[in-house]
Amino acid sequence: MATMEFKGIAASPGVAIGPIVVLPQIQALVNYRELAANWEIEWEIERLERALSATKEEFAAARAEMDHTLNDFSSLFDAYILLLDDKLIKQRTRLTIEKQKVNAEWALNLTLNQAEQLFADITDAYIKDRFRDIMAVIDHIMRHLSEDLSPEFNMQEPSILVVHDLTPADIIRLNTSMILGLATDQGGPTSHTAIIAKALGLPAVQGLEKISSSARNGDKAIIDGAKGLLLLSPSQPEIDFYQDQQIAYRLYLEKITALADLPSHTLDGVQVEVGANIEMLEEIASVHKFGGQSVGLYRTEFSCLSFNRQPTEEEMFDNLRQLALGLNGLSATVRTLDIGGDKLAGFTARGDEINPNLGLRGIRYSIKDRPFFLRQLRAILRASHYGKIRIMFPMVASAEEIIIAKQCLQEARDSLRRQNLPFAGQVETGIMIEVPAAAIAADILAREVDFFSLGTNDLIQYSMAIDRNNEQVKALYQPLHVSILRIIRQVAQAAREAGIDFNMCGEMAGNPRYTPLILGLGVHKLSMSPVIMPRVKEVVRQVNLEYWQKVAEEAINLAAVDQVEALLAFHLKNQMPDLFGGE
Ligand code: PEP
Ligand code: MG
Repeated sequence: MATMEFKGIAASPGVAIGPIVVLPQIQALVNYRELAANWEIEWEIERLERALSATKEEFAAARAEMDHTLNDFSSLFDAYILLLDDKLIKQRTRLTIEKQKVNAEWALNLTLNQAEQLFADITDAYIKDRFRDIMAVIDHIMRHLSEDLSPEFNMQEPSILVVHDLTPADIIRLNTSMILGLATDQGGPTSHTAIIAKALGLPAVQGLEKISSSARNGDKAIIDGAKGLLLLSPSQPEIDFYQDQQIAYRLYLEKITALADLPSHTLDGVQVEVGANIEMLEEIASVHKFGGQSVGLYRTEFSCLSFNRQPTEEEMFDNLRQLALGLNGLSATVRTLDIGGDKLAGFTARGDEINPNLGLRGIRYSIKDRPFFLRQLRAILRASHYGKIRIMFPMVASAEEIIIAKQCLQEARDSLRRQNLPFAGQVETGIMIEVPAAAIAADILAREVDFFSLGTNDLIQYSMAIDRNNEQVKALYQPLHVSILRIIRQVAQAAREAGIDFNMCGEMAGNPRYTPLILGLGVHKLSMSPVIMPRVKEVVRQVNLEYWQKVAEEAINLAAVDQVEALLAFHLKNQMPDLFGGE
């Protein structure tokens, strides 16, 4: 049988090779049974009640058992438990059993269909997202009704789990020692599954669309988590190739962990700070393990997302206090909520936007939802009492936005003072430079802030006018485009002249091939995914800054990205043959 290749979204790096276990969508297994006698009806209602109680116990136990790694998701279970008692599920299903005289599974499935119809006409993104929760809860009740044991309990050997979608509750139940990797039809790189898979170190590919209906139990497969690939029924040469890749990845992890604490200065002695981008408290361990010198970006979207509603000040404070304490004196740049665009559509009741990437995103949303913004600012300030915290505003396009944000910050400070709640006297305030307007006016914006952080992910998207998640224009997502290189250099210069701190935190900062060029463009502080930090530091130690400044000068005058690529390849090979000689 020929190999079938499925291309999805890279959710968590690593290679997994092994047999597949497919977790079927439970609805596909539901049978119809008509009830003739009254006692049968009573019996089905009793079965439903038992399944509801068992599901409740399951959620409560999962919440209690949840280890520190997945702590952020606990409040989701509270929401699930509330749904179990909601009349939308319980009463409707009971009524259907009584009135239509059908078995509990069939009635529950009808409830799901009715809920789907109910939500179909709703345009409010937040409310619409609740349908996913209902689906997840019904799925769990159904499993109890059909006494279906989850496949991980039946797994005879370590396997790749293939599933249509995975709820946080599913993940808690996973016996991860038996799971080699995860592949799902749905989801993307910022989904719960991706975040949890990364935190657990499981290779994962998502958004494969039809993998759960194409694969069969026992089929052999390979997951390449970094490339977002799944190979179904691979050939022996492919298996051999990926086994080598797997070994290489393991060796690489061992090697870089050993290198983590080595210094990061260039050959000519310029210090380069290498920090981490994280979104979960569970990743603090990786910051230390891989030798992070700071947290250059703490994205607050994910800790907020885990609540499925706006978190309270206390909830945000608790999360940030743990961050501050866990970093043992390293500084953390906490970014206020960067909602909108492709992120967190369900958090706000903002309705559909035709073009969300150009809509109510980042600081624009915060300014509009001032009560929430103030709560978040108070939480960040309060956390600053426990460690080194800086505040950063995302998606800033103009000085007015900074001024309003700083007024809010002052209001938050005043209110904390009135309540005698402690916070640090000096909390640096900065902005992301990720909108071209801000980059162009960087010298003016620099007057308002203590630091800049360059977000290349959005900067490239907005400069090149391409949606960073759109397959059709993916080829135009070009970090080495001359305009991007020029913007980087210009913003670095503006920051230097204004005497403010300057960091780069987009994905580009975590690509070791780009490191020497980025340093040459004038960036001396980088933050990235923790696992890549030792590798970037290794490159930094081999950079002759003066040499790479000249290369950068040449690069910003080249018309084509291919030419920049060639220039880079030539100098990398020439300057760092042991690191890039094999290219
Ligand atoms: C960026 O835009 O480069 C960035 C770091 O922020 P995010 O990816 O969270 O939008
Ligand atoms: Mg961004």
